[in-house]
Amino acid sequence: MHLNPYGEGAVHLAADLVNHRPQSAEELADRCRTAGLVVEGPVGAADLARVLALLDAWESVVDAAGERERAERLNRMLAADADHPRLTDHAGGWHLHYRDDDRSFAAVLSTLIAVGTAFHLVGRGMHRLGRCAVAECATVFADTTRTGRRRYCTQRCANRDAVRRHRAAGR
Ligand SMILES: [Zn+2]
Ligand SMILES: [Zn+2]
Repeated sequence: MHLNPYGEGAVHLAADLVNHRPQSAEELADRCRTAGLVVEGPVGAADLARVLALLDAWESVVDAAGERERAERLNRMLAADADHPRLTDHAGGWHLHYRDDDRSFAAVLSTLIAVGTAFHLVGRGMHRLGRCAVAECATVFADTTRTGRRRYCTQRCANRDAVRRHRAAGR
């Protein structure tokens, strides 16, 4: 996966992994491949453990109380997981990497998610990470809609909430 200027692939992958945490290293590798990541080298138990810790940190970015807290938490992730940018054409076509080439899979994924999330927030808006407004759902999402006013994880939850509000109004 190459980071597009808005980090869209990276934030959707992070949300998916937070909502359904991978249970094994194989599952983690498979789901990253499905999301378009080139998985080079082995993915082992140490990678899984590090990625689960990364997902906790990312979830705390989603749940930050305001923009400043969100920025501070993401800045901590960037400090831990990103290096200076450098140009590379290893896959044919110049693009930026924010890390050295010889990193573990977990380190590569951490960099992708931290930098991708930074692009997403500064490109589209600092408020564009959230949880479904249906309280018992609380699924995490990255808002890449045109309007930036997404409130629900799915149309199903939006409908559920609409029915509930309608009933409450009728009482
Ligand atoms: Zn690359
Ligand atoms: Zn929901």
